[in-house]
Amino acid sequence: MEPGKSQAPSPHILIFPLPIQGPVNAMLKLAELCATAGLKVTFLNSEYNHSRLVRFANIPSRFDKYPGFEFRTISDGLPGDHSRSGNRFMEIFEAMNIRTKPLLKDMLVEMIPPVDCIIGDGILEFVLDVANELGIPIINCRTIGACFLWSNYSIPDMIEAGELPIKGSEDMDRPITAVPGMEKFLRCRDLPSFCRASNMSDSTLLRYGTVTRKSFTASGVILNTFEELEGPILSQIRSKCPNVYTIGPLNEHFKTRMSLENGVSSQSSNYFWEVDRSCMSWLDRQPNQSVVYVSFGSIAVMSDEQIMEFWHGLVNSKRRFLWVVRPDSVAGKGFQGEDTPKELVEGTKDRGYIVGWAAQEEVLSHRAVGGFLTHSGWNSTMESIVAGVPMLCWPYFADQQLNSRFVGEVWKLGIDMKDVCDRKVVEKMVNDLMVERKDEFVKSAAAMASLAKDCVSVGGPSYCNFDRLIEDIKTISL
Ligand code: UDP
Repeated sequence: MEPGKSQAPSPHILIFPLPIQGPVNAMLKLAELCATAGLKVTFLNSEYNHSRLVRFANIPSRFDKYPGFEFRTISDGLPGDHSRSGNRFMEIFEAMNIRTKPLLKDMLVEMIPPVDCIIGDGILEFVLDVANELGIPIINCRTIGACFLWSNYSIPDMIEAGELPIKGSEDMDRPITAVPGMEKFLRCRDLPSFCRASNMSDSTLLRYGTVTRKSFTASGVILNTFEELEGPILSQIRSKCPNVYTIGPLNEHFKTRMSLENGVSSQSSNYFWEVDRSCMSWLDRQPNQSVVYVSFGSIAVMSDEQIMEFWHGLVNSKRRFLWVVRPDSVAGKGFQGEDTPKELVEGTKDRGYIVGWAAQEEVLSHRAVGGFLTHSGWNSTMESIVAGVPMLCWPYFADQQLNSRFVGEVWKLGIDMKDVCDRKVVEKMVNDLMVERKDEFVKSAAAMASLAKDCVSVGGPSYCNFDRLIEDIKTISL
């Protein structure tokens, strides 16, 4: 530094994820990376989620090592006893818009030192509005695929082409041609789940598109994806929003940078549930690539019937399985009641293991895991891709219907079982994944995992994009 000149203070950024497990986990990793790069970070959590991170993820003390790193909390607008799961989760958007928005504005006005730049979850439109009102630069972060972002952007075009709305269940296999780059494989059933609602008016549908278009007016968009995976769709997005930072797969990127920083490969576990680690020693006792890992993420709620179809299918497949059944993921009378068929109890004792929550990233990289029966949440998809684990997809809602189509039809990394929940199909497809088509999928999954790792290694596109992001934040903050 030149004598007499003082060093510019570190830019102060506020990171505000959508309050669910996937985005919080991913954006906390981003926050840690930003802190390591010398930024002052305030991480804004919903009160509801923060108490769970305090309980299960050793937060805030785990972040004490980063000078100036602060956690702040804000109401998500829902009552404390609201389930925040299943389709009821969608109620959070209105609640946040009404109650969280004014609180955020007051918080930003009073914050010391002032916030130089916000990294907001692009799905929270009100964060962009507040940033614009207060004149604070904002970069959006989306923990969804470029494919979903682009399909949402294209909703007005689909309406104009007469391809939306969908006209009931008979209409599901009709091709969709108005999403540039997806003409060859997109069907109505692959569109985001909100496009399926029969009572959806054009104006409500249109709103999904206009919110996405508006989110492109931020100073940039950060995506947890990588160029080799979604290059063609990213080119489409860049024609409308030039400043896209692809920095994924974020979990692997995190590991790369932390091992360069500390000399050891570390993982960051930002969980809302207590991890049951006993499944790791169970996995240690299983042969290589023999186990199907089954998890439907942090929000999906299944009926007793659906659980039973999956359970019969898994047991009848005769494959080994590790199944995450979250305490709040069964809507009916319960998962393991007294009337559970004996063959399921016996089959699970022989070849299965059930936990309430697993350290998923660790599970996926365990040598015993050979397939992932997943709901195709974007974070799970990225974690599976970088671990080189083929997927059997049973999408639940939102972006998952589209993600599973890309997994099955575009990237050829597994099978898309969407819209079917039948024990015979589960049994057959588990065996297709783990036995009949195993070689094909293992080969393509290993090739994609290698490309993913290249992207986050030093000099790779995701690695360079993160450096560019930090430089841009510093410039914005001057
Ligand atoms: N996850 C986990 N343990 C589990 C189940 C899920 O750690 O037993 C994590 C998973 O690694 C991922 C997140 O929860 O990071 C789920 O996010 P995703 O986007 O896949 O699905 P969502 O929960 O949003 O539906």
